[in-house]
Amino acid sequence: MAQRSKNHLAMFGLLVLCAACSPNEKLAPVGRGEPGQGDADAAPDGGGTGAADDLFAELPGLAPTATGRGGAAATVDLRGTLAAIEVLKKGGNAVDAAVAAAGVLGATDPFSCGIGGGGFMLVYLAADNKVVAIDHRETAPSRLEASAFYENGAPIAFDELVTSGLSVGVPGTVRGWSEALRRYGTLGLKDVLQRAIQVAEAGFEVDATFFEQTGRNLARFQAITSSKELFLGPDGEARPVGAVFKNPDLARTYRLIAEGGDKAFYEGEIAAAIVAAVLEPPIEPGSTLDVRPGVIALSDLQDYEARVRPAISTTYRGYTVHGVGLPSSGGITVAEALNLLEGFDLETLTPVEVLHRYLGASRLAFADRGAFLGDPEFVEAPVAGLLSKDYADARRDLIDLAEAPTSAAAPGDPFAFQTDPSPSPRRGQPARNGSARPKNDASDNETTHITVSDAAGNIVSYTCTIESEGGNGVVVPGHGFLLNNELTDFNIPSDPAAPHPNVVEPGKRPRSSMSPTIVLKDGKPEIALASPGGSTIITTVLQILVGYIDLGLPIDKALAAPRISQRNAGDGSSDAETAFLGALEAEGLRALGHVFSDANTTGGEIGAATALRFHGDGTVTAVAEPVRRHGGSAMVERAP
Ligand code: GLU
Repeated sequence: MAQRSKNHLAMFGLLVLCAACSPNEKLAPVGRGEPGQGDADAAPDGGGTGAADDLFAELPGLAPTATGRGGAAATVDLRGTLAAIEVLKKGGNAVDAAVAAAGVLGATDPFSCGIGGGGFMLVYLAADNKVVAIDHRETAPSRLEASAFYENGAPIAFDELVTSGLSVGVPGTVRGWSEALRRYGTLGLKDVLQRAIQVAEAGFEVDATFFEQTGRNLARFQAITSSKELFLGPDGEARPVGAVFKNPDLARTYRLIAEGGDKAFYEGEIAAAIVAAVLEPPIEPGSTLDVRPGVIALSDLQDYEARVRPAISTTYRGYTVHGVGLPSSGGITVAEALNLLEGFDLETLTPVEVLHRYLGASRLAFADRGAFLGDPEFVEAPVAGLLSKDYADARRDLIDLAEAPTSAAAPGDPFAFQTDPSPSPRRGQPARNGSARPKNDASDNETTHITVSDAAGNIVSYTCTIESEGGNGVVVPGHGFLLNNELTDFNIPSDPAAPHPNVVEPGKRPRSSMSPTIVLKDGKPEIALASPGGSTIITTVLQILVGYIDLGLPIDKALAAPRISQRNAGDGSSDAETAFLGALEAEGLRALGHVFSDANTTGGEIGAATALRFHGDGTVTAVAEPVRRHGGSAMVERAP
C-alpha cells in the first residue's frame, strides 16, 4: 500500500477511534498496515482457554477481541460465546458450536433471537472449499392473504401489526438447526442443546442489556399474561440488574427438542401451543391492548422446510465475498454496492471522499433492492443482472462525485444485464409503491449475529432473529420463548393492488436484510462477519468491508468505527450514529451537502457486529463490539 494512503488510513483510523469511544475510555493505538495487522492481533485470548471440563464453572471476563489457535467465536453475549468454545473444545465443529451458541442466546438474549424466529446461516466447508447458505426464514402461513394486513382499505398500523398474531411467520430456527447439524455438523440437537438447557434452568444475572430490553417491552409485556409471568417481577416491572432470571419452561422445551428432534417442535405439544398463542393471544383480563389473532395452522408448522441454497458471491479487489441470497436481500445488495465501489480507486482518496462514494453506492444498490427483490420461490428477481460487473459499470456514473443527493435514486435496468434466461417482466417489474418501510428500521436492539470457526477451518456466519426487539411480544405459554413478528418485513403498500415483489402471499418468506458474510482471498478464508440492525445490516457489513479492505483498518477497528447508513431515503439523507455526528468526517460530508439524521435507535447505535479474521500464520482473531449493546464477547479455543 502506498505511503500516502497509509497516512490517510491512519488519519481515518484515529478519527474513528476518537468518535467511537466514550469519554472515559482510553484510546488504543491506531492500527496501520495491511488489513488485519493491528493491535487486535496482539490481543489476549479473551479468557476462553481455561479447562475443558466446565468452562461455565467460573465465568471469564468480557473481552471484545481474542487471538489464538484452533477455533474461535464471537457473539453479543459471554455465555453464548462460551457455549461455542465449549463445544469446540469437546471436539464439535463450527456448525455444532454455532447452534450451541444460538441455543444459549435464546435463553440469555431472548428479545433478539430464539426458537420462535428464524435466520440465515452461511457455512464455509473447509474440506470442499465451498460456501452454502441455510435459509430458515419464517414463512407466511398457508391461509394468510395480503388482505389480512388491511382494514377498511388501509394498511393496519405498523406497531399494531408488530404486536399481533398476524405478523407471526412459521418459525424456522429449529428446522434450520436440525438441517445444519444433519448435513454439516458432527453432533445432534441433543448434544448441542445441553448447555442452553442448563443456562435456562439455572438462570443468570440480569445485565444492563436484558434490563433495558425488558423495559422497552414493558407496556406490552404487562398486557400479555405469559410474557408478564416470564419476564416481569412480582411487582409487574422489569427485573432489576443483578436479579437472577430463570426460564424453566424454555429448559423443558429445549429438552423436548433435544429428545425428540425438530419434530418435537413442529408437531405435538409445542406446535399446538404456538398455534394457540397465535390464534388466541393470551391477553391480561382488563387489558385494552388490541392483539389481533393470526391464522397459523398445525399443518404450517408440520410442513415447514429449511432451504439449503447456494451462496451469493462477488469478487472485490482480489477478495471473494460470499453472502446469502434471496429471500434475504443482504448478500445481493452488499455485492452490488461493492461492484459499484470497485470502480473507484479508494486507496488514493481521503476518508471523506471514500465515505461519499460508500454512501452513493449504497443508495443505488438500495434503489434496486427496493424494486426487485423478494422470495425467489414467488418472484423472478434479476439477480444475475444485479450482480453483473457490467451493470455496475453502467450505473456507477450516477454517483455524483461533487454533491450529495437530495432525492431517492430510481432503480436501474438489471434485466438488460441478465446472463441467464430473462425473467418475466410482469413479475420483475419495479415497485410502484412500498419500497419504503413504515418503520424507521435503522435498528433497535433486535436480532443477533454469531461467528464461529473450528480447528479444521470450517466457518459459520449466522444471523438469527425474532424481528423486533421482543418479537411480537407474546411468550408461548408454558414454553418460555417469544414469537416472531417477521411478517412485518413484507411490504404493505398503501394501495393494496400495487405490484411489489415483497408483498404478502400465502407460504411466502418476507424479504430479509440479514447479511452473514464470509470473505476469501486466494481461496483461503480471510474474514467472516455480519450484524443485526434491520436494513442497516447491509450498510454495516458494507462499511466494515470498506474499512477493512480499502482503508486497511484491522478488523476490530473497522468494526468499532462509527457508522453511517444510506438506504435511498426520499430526501437523500443518511442515518448516522451519534458518535459519528461530531466527527470530522461528518463535517466534510456536510460540506458536500450530506444531511444526517441521528439514527433513531437505542443509544444512537447502528448494529452490533461480530467478526473473525484468519491470519496467514494459522492464528485467528475473534472480534465483538467493544461498546455497542454494552459490548460483546470474543474467545478462542487455544492461546496463540
Ligand atoms: N427482520 C430483519 C431482517 O430480516 C432482521 C431483524 C433486524 O435486525 O432488524 O432483515
